[in-house]
Amino acid sequence: MPLETAFSMDTSSIKYGPGVTREVGWDMEEQGARRVMVVTDSHLSDKEPVAVTLEALGRHGIDAVLYDRASVEPTDVSFKEAIQFAADGNFDGFVAVGGGSSIDTAKAANLYSTHPADFMTYVNLPIGKGEPVPGALKPLVAVPTTAGTGSETTGVAIFDLLEIKAKTGIAHRNLRPVKGIVDPNNTKSLPKMIAACTGLDQLTHALEALTVLPYNQRPAPEHPKLRPAYQGANPISHIWASRAIEMISQHLVRAIEDPSNDEARGEVLLAATYAGIGFGNGGCHLPHGMSYPVSGMVRDYVPEGYPPEQPLIPHGMAVVLNAPAVFRFTAPANPEMHLYAAKLMGEDISDASPEDAGEVLAGNIVEMMRKVGMPNGLSAVGYGPDDVDKLVEGTLPQHRVTKLSPRPASAEDLKQLFMDSLTLW
Ligand SMILES: [Zn+2]
Repeated sequence: MPLETAFSMDTSSIKYGPGVTREVGWDMEEQGARRVMVVTDSHLSDKEPVAVTLEALGRHGIDAVLYDRASVEPTDVSFKEAIQFAADGNFDGFVAVGGGSSIDTAKAANLYSTHPADFMTYVNLPIGKGEPVPGALKPLVAVPTTAGTGSETTGVAIFDLLEIKAKTGIAHRNLRPVKGIVDPNNTKSLPKMIAACTGLDQLTHALEALTVLPYNQRPAPEHPKLRPAYQGANPISHIWASRAIEMISQHLVRAIEDPSNDEARGEVLLAATYAGIGFGNGGCHLPHGMSYPVSGMVRDYVPEGYPPEQPLIPHGMAVVLNAPAVFRFTAPANPEMHLYAAKLMGEDISDASPEDAGEVLAGNIVEMMRKVGMPNGLSAVGYGPDDVDKLVEGTLPQHRVTKLSPRPASAEDLKQLFMDSLTLW
């Protein structure tokens, strides 16, 4: 089986700066859009980022229709509702204002209203049919209001498929927004726990992109159109992931402790975009693969700062809770890269040996988790040893990411990783 020899850098155009949301009217006009669906969620619909967006679109004579029913944790049902709205609305462009869930919802609405198909057609294998998107989509401009998903840079939309209670997604480069408007003014009022979870999500995105299976160890695609968005570690994703790890490690704690620190908050938001370019091209692996059942099987955990009516293990929390155990496990596959990641986090690795790599990196992640108030392992969000088999079962179908693990993980390995993640310190 021939191995991959090529890699590409795909990303949205990015505009960064305090107040740049005010330019989104021009950005859509430049794309030729005259009638735009503005996708957000109900918690954000009366807040400043949405108001500024609507005002900016109006100033350029663009007909903007607000859709504020994006779900905080999107499902196939919430996606289909947005798709129907998009299909009925006859839009020629999309603006998403919000966290990854709103941006992902806009991607799905754009995809299925532009290239109508049965819902499972484009959903990732093996859960869906995994067919490639047949052509270009309408322009989507993304305005992130949390610093974490990097969804403004990627061609990935994640959702819960309710009938099988599993997270899956749609991944194709044509889903990528044409532009990300990265405006630090939009993350000013983020509650502490949301800022911590989204910040640790981006840290883990970058750590995974750095350590993921290298692109040239993956089978070559039979046709260029089948080359996955998550290509494996490559020289381009390496650059973006490395810098993101440094920026987050230097600024995240300060940004969370003092949200009025514009510099730290701005750096964290910019780092989210860098991390997005890193994992959007390189890929994620086990921490993300294992996070999906952790979020999906939640019983009654409600983190502070999140809407109280719905039990929820936020995506970033579910990801980082597994990260220390995973990196201890994957380090033997590439100890130098794991030590390098620890160095980017600020660790002095001059005396560290390759055998220490996993422990050193895991230690740095745990230290950061404690500083920003993460719960102490899966046991602190409601899971016990009896849940581990189900968690493994929910991880196994996440091929898109688990197959990119730098060290193959069997069901037995995953079981041990979940056990090791029950308590972290
Ligand atoms: Zn993530």
